[in-house]
Amino acid sequence: MDAVSAPPPAAVEIVALTKRYAAGAQPAVDQIDLRIASGSYCCLLGPSGCGKSTTLRMVAGHESVSAGDILLDNRNITNLPAAARGTAMMFQSFALFPHLSALDNVAFSLKMKSVAKAERHRRAKNLLERVAMGHLAERKPAELSGGQQQRVALARALITEPRVLLLDEPLSALDPFLRIQMRAELRRWQKELGLTFIHVTHSQEEAMALADTMVVMNHGLIEQVGSPHQVYNHPASEFVARFMGGHNVFALNDGLVAVRNDHMRIAPSTGEAGDMGVPAHVTDIEYQGTYVLIGLRLTGERPERSGVSVLLSEQTFLSRPYEVGDSVRLSWSETDARALGPGATRPGEPGNGSAASRPAPMAALAAMAA
Ligand code: ADP
Ligand code: MG
Repeated sequence: MDAVSAPPPAAVEIVALTKRYAAGAQPAVDQIDLRIASGSYCCLLGPSGCGKSTTLRMVAGHESVSAGDILLDNRNITNLPAAARGTAMMFQSFALFPHLSALDNVAFSLKMKSVAKAERHRRAKNLLERVAMGHLAERKPAELSGGQQQRVALARALITEPRVLLLDEPLSALDPFLRIQMRAELRRWQKELGLTFIHVTHSQEEAMALADTMVVMNHGLIEQVGSPHQVYNHPASEFVARFMGGHNVFALNDGLVAVRNDHMRIAPSTGEAGDMGVPAHVTDIEYQGTYVLIGLRLTGERPERSGVSVLLSEQTFLSRPYEVGDSVRLSWSETDARALGPGATRPGEPGNGSAASRPAPMAALAAMAA
């Protein structure tokens, strides 16, 4: 970014945000800082229990904050009630009321605010039309397809005119086919409405497909923030490389590196003295259609770091097939190796990559082919 162009305005700014459910316990969310650009699609991504939902619920006002601040368009909303924040929440599998029509589902929160019936129906009808559901306003959720239900849930969340839409695993209860359809639709609506979306998911694939900005969390800390491309191509730590998948981690003399499994080179072992590369043997072969995924174990590496994989195009594999049990040599171009940092640490804690905790490098890597 050049010096004159200012960063886009932060719709949501999180400052040293902390949640401690029990005194003395490790915080569920530990002093995280985050700026989410206005009108962007932000995904909070991480394994189960890493603090994603807690973070989202604190932004929504459904969970109290132990320390820190939440700002929406530069207004401190940390202690405001949920309804006064300018945020709205869309829940897992949409959580529509089964006994209410689409129209009454959408109008529900206005009813709670004692808006007169004619007015709330008018506004709900407008929103349903906006999401191309006006003609089905009288249907009950069970009479709607998954996609139509999602649009009703979206209209219901939008009726309070939020600036920020919060989505907690909205797609995780859907079958895989519908999930892929629905995420394309969420992405389209976000762009069309121009709202800021904060979407919690444990699925790397979902976050990659949706996000302008991915926030990778682990143990209540943020490991990395970046575009899907940045995070996938430059994982900041071993945790991110492994969590994103598709990467191998190697311990070299000067630290850990990650190499994408589609950037690996594989060659049969010649058994001769000049054999270059990291020795390994094939443990499984998975045919995936366009690609073939070869699972391997590195020779002489600790069990937790010995599993690696190589992704070959179907054509490459067929031109030189491997079999389970084959001895091979692995290598990569130096430009494809990403140095990994120590990862997020709590104040006062040594990093994962500190000299004391770093594993002994693999001797064989001295012979790595360039
Ligand atoms: P995620 O959504 O990433 O799976 P959560 O934010 O739900 O994670 O949980 C983060 C941590 O906080 C977990 O260790 C979880 O057990 C704990 N936790 C979540 N909700 C509560 C609660 N209401 N009371 C106590 N601990 C909780
Ligand atoms: Mg959760």
